[in-house]
Amino acid sequence: MAAARVAVASIIQETNTFAAQPSTLDDFTAQGLWVGAEAAERSAGTNTEIAGALARIAAGGAEAVPVVRAWAMSSGVLDRHAFTYLRGLLFDGLVAAGPVDALVLCLHGALVADGEPAADAALVEAARSVLRPGTPLVVTHDLHANVTARLTRQVDALAGFRTYPHVDQGDTGRRGAVLALRMLDEGLRPGTALAKRPMLVPAESQAIADPPMAALRRLADEATGGPILDVSVFPVQPWLDVPELGFGVSVTHAGDPKAGQAVADTVAAAAWERRGEFAVHPVPVAEAVASVPARTGRGPVLLVQSADSPTAGAAADSATVIAALLDRPGRIRSYATVVDAPAVACCHLAGTGAAVDTPVGATVDPRWSKPVRLTGTVTRLGAEAVTLTGAAMTGQEVGIGRWATVDTGTGLTVLVTERPAPTFDPAGYRHAGLEPADADAVVVRSATLYRAGYNGGYAEAILLDLPGASTPRLDYLDFRHAPRPLYPIDGGAR
Ligand SMILES: [Zn+2]
Repeated sequence: MAAARVAVASIIQETNTFAAQPSTLDDFTAQGLWVGAEAAERSAGTNTEIAGALARIAAGGAEAVPVVRAWAMSSGVLDRHAFTYLRGLLFDGLVAAGPVDALVLCLHGALVADGEPAADAALVEAARSVLRPGTPLVVTHDLHANVTARLTRQVDALAGFRTYPHVDQGDTGRRGAVLALRMLDEGLRPGTALAKRPMLVPAESQAIADPPMAALRRLADEATGGPILDVSVFPVQPWLDVPELGFGVSVTHAGDPKAGQAVADTVAAAAWERRGEFAVHPVPVAEAVASVPARTGRGPVLLVQSADSPTAGAAADSATVIAALLDRPGRIRSYATVVDAPAVACCHLAGTGAAVDTPVGATVDPRWSKPVRLTGTVTRLGAEAVTLTGAAMTGQEVGIGRWATVDTGTGLTVLVTERPAPTFDPAGYRHAGLEPADADAVVVRSATLYRAGYNGGYAEAILLDLPGASTPRLDYLDFRHAPRPLYPIDGGAR
């Protein structure tokens, strides 16, 4: 008997519907858009869903058939052209692959395209239209997915990340592959149950090691076994204004929908019960900046500007914290970044050692902040990519375009970049000659990833109360499509 053929496809982007910049095909091609064998070759050995799934399928004695790998950094709503093109790559790739016995489809779960708020479900529909009726279809999702009934209706099994900060991308791909292989080898006929609750959870309180999520994950693990094949908890990334928005729990069961639904309902009820514990307490910027002591000796204080986090789809162009650091009475040594292409051009024209006087900030998304006047001396110029060194995404290169450092003479040095710097990792500053350990305060534009990136190498982290496309203050955002009432923005706290 010929080995079973299991196709694997991966189309992944997290959409922030509050981000100003639309997401385009360029965002995917910049990260490598690979079709067929190239998708397997270039992903091999990486901690990604597609690599994990392909390797596990081959290890299980089946033929792994790579279809497409498309990945882009979080950004705004995907434009229609890009969505149609990506869906076409999936459809055409599956047609070209010929008959397959199963499909593992790796999706983020929070992809929104222009005119298509549940774009992941639309991709599943495209795949289903090619597969022979009854072909096992397993989907993997990021923990920040907004799972829709439209998707779970069409899939046999669903496996989500179990970590945040995320480190189990490859493991999740392997779990998806195992579910597909079991359907082929053991004749399992699973189904997926879904329970949702109308609540938003700030990203800052979703860390898997912290109480509410840790307890929910434990509950999910305890319920797994027997007919319950997989329990995944999806607190959802909160900057997503779509009709089916809500905290989700999915359960893949071995053909026992009643048992599956009961487990999904139990875990979702526990999340709802503990909803108050997800509250975060951001600090006004001036207060936070004033509270930074000089030379703690325990590493820098991290000023957490998660409201403008590029890994959450924001533009990283707010200069509000820079303004507060410039205004601070009393000298401390501090580092901040800002995306501002015209200011970078100005610094490069001036040259190293020259004086500059330029506005910075609010050049990409002017809704949340105002430009700030930056005066000082250009201390360093560059254009090379940053190689990450922290525990999150070690070794990965992040292109930041051209960049410049400006010493303001006040203790603050600003790293101005054309594209967002990865401040969740100390390498984001270090590559520009700014050693975070030497500073009293360092601005990080990240909700939780900095915890993995800095791995304890800081005195304290202060969450800043700021508006922005990825703000922790969800009440600052104007939700127009999500079902209401929605906790906590419409009340309902105990
Ligand atoms: Zn995520």
